Amino acid sequence: MTGRGWRLPVKLLGIPLSLDPSFALVLPLFAWLIGSQVPAYAELLATLGLQVDGEALSRGLVPYLLGLTAALGLFMSVLIHELGHALTARLYGVQTRGITLWFLGGVAQLEDMPRQRGAEAIVAIVGPITSAALGALLGTVLGNVEMGSGATFVVAYLAITNVALALFNLLPALPLDGGRVLRSLLALALPRQRATAVAGGVSQVLAIGLGVFGFLSLNLLLMAVAFFVYNAGRAEVQAETMRRAFEGRKVREFMSPEPITVELSMPMERFRALKAWKRHPCYPIVDSEERLVGVARIADAEAAEDEAPLSSLLRDAEEVEAGSDMEAAVRRLAASDLGRLVVVDRHGRVVGILAKTDVVRALEALQS
Ligand SMILES: [Zn+2]
Repeated sequence: MTGRGWRLPVKLLGIPLSLDPSFALVLPLFAWLIGSQVPAYAELLATLGLQVDGEALSRGLVPYLLGLTAALGLFMSVLIHELGHALTARLYGVQTRGITLWFLGGVAQLEDMPRQRGAEAIVAIVGPITSAALGALLGTVLGNVEMGSGATFVVAYLAITNVALALFNLLPALPLDGGRVLRSLLALALPRQRATAVAGGVSQVLAIGLGVFGFLSLNLLLMAVAFFVYNAGRAEVQAETMRRAFEGRKVREFMSPEPITVELSMPMERFRALKAWKRHPCYPIVDSEERLVGVARIADAEAAEDEAPLSSLLRDAEEVEAGSDMEAAVRRLAASDLGRLVVVDRHGRVVGILAKTDVVRALEALQS
């Protein structure tokens, strides 16, 4: 999850909120799913001693309005869960870039994981505790406040769902909260890299188990969750490998030095001809003092007129200083459109290229 999505015009306790585009699909879907199950829920609630008038709630548009209210409440619950994480992280001095609600719930983007021993476990466990507490609170309201059938239905639905949310998130699979608790506890005894690898292994086994169970019970949502857990767990292990490989290292150690640069005054035809010679998709463009002014893509040159100046193809270069931290550069590279950063010295002169292939090569060298 990145910070993309629709930024909401409100901040909660200083934290920006966004909606992932999948939300637009999921909200009506959930409203419909809950709405179409109202009679079944009413029976379930009756077994818990809660009387709701299932027939009155199933008439006309009522079930779908109830479904919509319950779905909105569900997303509010997820938001409160994520706020629990964000505020606990804040106690450890780690800020939250934003909270994004998406189709399987929410993600609080912490700037970093607190590095204090055991802190990740505390930050993680507060999420399920928050959900369980919210569920208990709603349960108490239910037992003590006289409400109509509609309100009883929604409050009961949310009480049960919050408890389910707490239990689901306690599954010891990365990147769920339970997986983070597991990793943090393992890291008390093992090196962090090893702890992540073990937690990652447990996650994959759980994800596969969940997927098989989802398949056998024809539960599509469960299968989607299993798929998500499997992939996100792997990404988590890879991110840890990267962090370890590049921590404290500088960009200049990994870049390809002395790249071909192109002067802004080069005629279009000659620029185009570079592709017959070297197979780079784009080149750093420099002024007469060798200072970076941007990048130009060969593909753009092929579509351009012969007489057009090279400056008409100029795009902003994603540049990085040779002496800056490799860890941060790798994160930028992962989000880069061109898949490469132009490395410059302190005077803005091009000294290298850092491409995704450089990172892969470095990781391979470190692992062999
Ligand atoms: Zn959580």
